[in-house]
Amino acid sequence: MNGLIMDYPLTTNTILNYAKSAFPDKKLISHLPNGTRHEYTYGALERRCCQLANALKNKLGITKGDMIGTFAWNHYQHVELYYGIPGIGAICHTINIRLSSQQTEFIINHSEDKVIFVDATLVPLLEKIAPKLETVEKYIIINAHDGFTTSLLNTIHYEKLIEDQLDTIQWPKLNENDACGMCYTSGTTGMPKGVLYSHRSTYLHAMTILSPNAGNYSNDDIILLIVPQFHVMAWGFPYMCLLTGSDMVMPSLHLQPEAIIRILELEKVNKANGVPSIWMGVYEELKKNPPKKKLALEEYLVGGSALTASLVENFEKDFGIKGVQAWGMTETSPLGTASRLQKKHKDLTLKEQLKIRAKQGIEFPGIEMRVVGDNGQIAPRDGRTMGELQVKGAWVIKSYFKTNNRDNFTDDGWFRTGDVSTIDADGYMEITDRTKDLIKSGGEWISSVALESALMAHPNIKEAAVIAVPDKKWAERPLATIVLTDINKPISKEELKKYLSKDFANYQIPDYYVTISQVPKTSVGKFDKKEIRKLYAEGKLKQ
Ligand code: ADP
Repeated sequence: MNGLIMDYPLTTNTILNYAKSAFPDKKLISHLPNGTRHEYTYGALERRCCQLANALKNKLGITKGDMIGTFAWNHYQHVELYYGIPGIGAICHTINIRLSSQQTEFIINHSEDKVIFVDATLVPLLEKIAPKLETVEKYIIINAHDGFTTSLLNTIHYEKLIEDQLDTIQWPKLNENDACGMCYTSGTTGMPKGVLYSHRSTYLHAMTILSPNAGNYSNDDIILLIVPQFHVMAWGFPYMCLLTGSDMVMPSLHLQPEAIIRILELEKVNKANGVPSIWMGVYEELKKNPPKKKLALEEYLVGGSALTASLVENFEKDFGIKGVQAWGMTETSPLGTASRLQKKHKDLTLKEQLKIRAKQGIEFPGIEMRVVGDNGQIAPRDGRTMGELQVKGAWVIKSYFKTNNRDNFTDDGWFRTGDVSTIDADGYMEITDRTKDLIKSGGEWISSVALESALMAHPNIKEAAVIAVPDKKWAERPLATIVLTDINKPISKEELKKYLSKDFANYQIPDYYVTISQVPKTSVGKFDKKEIRKLYAEGKLKQ
């Protein structure tokens, strides 16, 4: 028997309409690429989304199912695209501006983007590959400055496109399972793969991340979205903020620590998101130039790579700002877990609490996770037994776009994350590595993530990335690359080994240490171990 409840499709249009009705005065503030500040309300946002949607239909002939690319920073126009495009049933395909030309060309041709909305500052990146783009009919230029010219053919300026359009619309009836957005993985382990989100998955993900056990957001908050809209949908924050009525602050290309701090101060931001390297940079800058007045920032949500206990501790001790770790993947929309303490943890020592907060956390309702060992058995939740993390849920991928490859899926319907982790008795998951980064030495697994966290807690180590290198006797041994905070104070190999021996068994401690000026990063700011391994193979990592 069916329940007798209305069939109310969970679409992004309902989010936009809700914000128009419940939070018309809340603000979307953008620090635009040219350095100017732009501010308008969610009421104005809704009207411009209608104008954009009308223009897409009337001027560009966009219809349901068309793929529309965006190649842009975080700002109000990009938020308009997040609603205007899926609102009429087309698909908002956010293209990562930091991929190689070859990957960008592949992605655009593979997804068959019909139109691309591109920031003027990013146009040169597309000009290079435009002759090879097979399906793009038009480029819409956002934030064009005076005297802007381009070799791209068929361009029109964003404001010109929407200015003469009606600011109301009758949104079409959509099915909540219709595709809404698309993002390709960052390709750290091969060519990027397309992940196609539905309206329903987007809505449920946004509803979940606002909840107290997750991000804990409300209409009291002013949130800085550092996570780019061009990758993993800015963690769904542009949808979540309209559901909660939180003010949204967008930094566009102003992502240097000094610029972030200036925006935090100016806009009285109290919450923010971002990858650990961003927060590490902000912390160091605050240490160098302590703010005159205490920042309004209370909490930053971190994911993408491991947030170390040392960063959490130092940020909190020195500036009273709390770091909360989340875990996710492009394939999981992206957020799947968060690590917050529970009531029963309140009486633990600070060290014990930090240990929990440095884990990747508990799954959100709507997500299930399990760890599967080498033997194919589900690992016990004992916080020790490692295996591959597998997930399923209401916003987890069931198939990649345009491919039948099922390597990442189990026969019983779980997604294989490629992360190696444990789950403890309280349900907290902890990532020890990615499958490809694990080090197997003399038959024993060594966690590169654990070594990196420990090394980065050293007062004179800013960054550390550990890779496996071939070894005649042990098959593999760990090699640690380190970046010093103060280059005038080198640390000897013996000192480092002694330092690590507090927490690690002898066989786990790296024999090789190489000081480098910076750890190579991927397009989304993670340690690029593929690149480090290449440097090693080319003999460029000398002790
Ligand atoms: P890609 O999969 O293309 O590298 P994603 O941005 O989707 O790009 O990265 C997902 C991966 O990032 C996860 O599988 C995991 O390895 C890593 N990751 C995400 N969040 C965390 C975290 N909090 N701690 C450690 N690793 C993380």
